[in-house]
Amino acid sequence: MSNIEKVKCLIIGSGPAGYTAAIYAARADMHPVMYQGMQPGGQLTTTNEVENFPGYPNGISGPEMMVELEAQAKRFETDIRFGFITKVDFSGEIHKCWADDGKEIHAETVIISTGASAKYLGLPSEQKYLELGGGVSACAVCDGFFYRGQETVIVGAGDSACEEAHYLSKLCTKVTMLVRKEEFRASKIMAERVKNTPNIEILFNTDTVEVLGDGNGVTGALVKNSVTGEEKTIPCTGFFVAIGHKPNTDIFADYINLDETGYIKYEQAGTSLTNVAGVFVAGDAADKRYRQAITAAGTGCMAAIDAERYLAAKGH
Ligand code: NDP
Repeated sequence: MSNIEKVKCLIIGSGPAGYTAAIYAARADMHPVMYQGMQPGGQLTTTNEVENFPGYPNGISGPEMMVELEAQAKRFETDIRFGFITKVDFSGEIHKCWADDGKEIHAETVIISTGASAKYLGLPSEQKYLELGGGVSACAVCDGFFYRGQETVIVGAGDSACEEAHYLSKLCTKVTMLVRKEEFRASKIMAERVKNTPNIEILFNTDTVEVLGDGNGVTGALVKNSVTGEEKTIPCTGFFVAIGHKPNTDIFADYINLDETGYIKYEQAGTSLTNVAGVFVAGDAADKRYRQAITAAGTGCMAAIDAERYLAAKGH
């Protein structure tokens, strides 16, 4: 039996970009098929409260918002599948994509909305406890609960680190924030919120030397002041990393033009076009500047409209 499936529009990834593309593509009668990817709902499923998405005057939780977007995409009969695309071949007019469910999808148009993933420091001790599931995490909202009433450390100085440190401060007795430079990168309002939280201690000019543990879980962090050279141990049971993200674009690298950090390059500014005709990009996979749910949703809309016009120009 052939496992080849022909589709007009394949959407890869299920964050706000993917779901918005799905809503638009479905309403344009393109019968989109979506593979949700490794983390259905994307990064917003690990975000606490979203207060800056227009239309939610009282805010909404990230996971709740993704459930609503999924329901809206389904209302117009998007074929949403739990699974991910493992390989692509964009060398021909028909775009071939292989899914982990064994299907070979032949798509006339593809919308890449694979987003980005959390970065880690890369220390062997960090990776060891990350793999053990014993105290290292890149998502305070997912894992903070396990460290209630305990002490935690968080690395990073951007908006994510501030948001996560603040979240942890509500659960933990003490949060130590390790900032590698002498200043935050975060917006002023986020940094101020952290500075004004009594149980968050901020250590500037501080690098992590090693994540300490007892073989089962984390017991502390050995840190070093990069100005004075002084080393000290901070006791903690949870070690959180919030140092940015890597775009999930590796499987496209042979066909799609990427920049030096792996983000997809737009073929034409102000559109969703990639260098491959019929392949469009939306959301964080191509955006290291804004990275917001609303900008991802906006580019998802653009990608679906561009895909629809591409098909129309071909007489479909
Ligand atoms: P950013 O890239 O903005 O910040 C990453 C931080 O991690 C930087 O402070 C960087 O330090 C630090 N860092 C990177 N590598 C290391 C390392 N090896 N060791 C120690 N520290 C390191 O990422 P974010 O995830 O914070 O934010 C991404 C985007 O999302 C931003 O545009 C942000 O504004 C937005 N955002 C908005 C939110 C909101 O508005 N509610 C919430 C969360 C994110 P350095 O400064 O020294 O380079």
